[in-house]
Amino acid sequence: MADHQAVYVAGQWVAPEAGDTIDVVSPHSERVIASVPSAGKAEVDQAVAAAREAFDHGPWPRLVPADRLAVVRKLAERYGARRREMSAIITDEMGSPAAFTKFAQATLPMLLLNAVADIGEALPWEERRAGAFGGELLVRREPVGVVAAIIPWNMPQFLLVGKLAPALVAGCPIIIKPAPETPLDALLLAEIIDELELPAGAVSILPGGAETGELLVSHPGVDKVAFTGSTAVGRQIAASCGSQLKRVSLELGGKSAAIVLDDADPATVAEGVKIAGLMNSGQACVAQTRVLVPESRHGEYVDAVAAMVDGLVVGDPTDLSTEIGPMVAKRQQDRVRGYIQDGIKSGARLVAGGAEMPAGVDSGWYVRPTVFAEVDNRMRIAREEIFGPVLSVIAYRDDADAVRIANDSDYGLSGSVWTADHERGLDVARQVRTGSFGINQPYSMDPAGPFGGMKASGIGRELGREGLEGYLETKVISSS
Ligand code: NAD
Repeated sequence: MADHQAVYVAGQWVAPEAGDTIDVVSPHSERVIASVPSAGKAEVDQAVAAAREAFDHGPWPRLVPADRLAVVRKLAERYGARRREMSAIITDEMGSPAAFTKFAQATLPMLLLNAVADIGEALPWEERRAGAFGGELLVRREPVGVVAAIIPWNMPQFLLVGKLAPALVAGCPIIIKPAPETPLDALLLAEIIDELELPAGAVSILPGGAETGELLVSHPGVDKVAFTGSTAVGRQIAASCGSQLKRVSLELGGKSAAIVLDDADPATVAEGVKIAGLMNSGQACVAQTRVLVPESRHGEYVDAVAAMVDGLVVGDPTDLSTEIGPMVAKRQQDRVRGYIQDGIKSGARLVAGGAEMPAGVDSGWYVRPTVFAEVDNRMRIAREEIFGPVLSVIAYRDDADAVRIANDSDYGLSGSVWTADHERGLDVARQVRTGSFGINQPYSMDPAGPFGGMKASGIGRELGREGLEGYLETKVISSS
């Protein structure tokens, strides 16, 4: 069992005063694999004070952007050198299948660092404009201030680096709180960052639970909160930030739809839905767990999706052939199985999977990948985020009806359309109220473009130029 003694406070390794610890448990073996100190009030206060000093008086926000970009590119290089280690840690701590982890959890963050540096390079940090009443305006982009980043466990490094990279490029000191399920990848990142010799106070990494997060969010020394997590916690954080007029970005839950038009090939649809609905064992905010199919070809699509799910390899996440690993925690396993039972009770037709354990698996927090057909969009399995490998197939009459059902959701995060006719797909894409959408591809999450949600899926954008702008304030200086 790996033991960690310290958390990363403003460039120093510090043993937390209160002495609380977090046990990290493998979702596959159900054994404790590491113990990590939990940051408390003393470390939060210390990190915020150092970040404040770095922002108010230190060199970091005052460097020319090119100097900060060079640091971000160096970080990408060092990160790349340790990405195998990162991948193994993430698979061990949260059970993400190794074949998925290698690229999506451990390589994408490195690519993201360089992509954000490219965006920073192209950004007009100072722009001159002619004033409407004569004179000249200088429009400047300045860092927003001290950032607190709160991270969930499902894509721990991608979501962390998605906040760290723009904060560094913008010149914001950042204090990062990883989820208690996944502190190990964050501590490895702290090791990598420590080698960069950033100015003191530029980065802190404080593992801890909800209380540590609350301390950060409500701290008067924090200027902006960047949160990714559940909609319920997002609402609390928005209220807390509202009372102090802090800047806040919220990347929350989803219940997205994959819309299958009647000209789509069933085999292609099934392969697309495998990624769109089930990547990371269904523990993805962008998961398209509602599969909308035309009444006219309903049976064909249901058969193709059910056959794909029946054929999935479920098991040990360290095995490269595994497609569905365990759920992150026992509570998550119980929750997903509860939804499967609820779907059966509500009258949806079970066409693959079920609420019992997968065949041949007797330990670990596994669930059977499951498909329901004849789902009514009013059922709980169609309305609530399950966060596990459970798909609901819903029949629609025509394209307009498909758009109506897709939009009949509290959420608006992601989605896709599957069709042989790009223009018809684009027409559907334009009408769906979500922050990102793919045409014949499982989702849209390219670091060059913005990512985020409409409705209960969040406020603000990450990634792309829009994401970087969330870490900047705009100032205008006029002169005659
Ligand atoms: P969660 O909301 O329970 O926790 C997320 C983080 O917030 C954790 O670090 C947690 O310790 C912290 N936290 C909890 N309560 C807090 C509080 N009151 N104040 C401050 N911090 C607090 O979510 P989770 O279970 O870790 O993650 C799953 C959820 O995240 C799903 O709903 C999923 O859709 C969402 N998610 C969204 C995106 C996106 O980009 N939209 C990406 C990934 C996950």
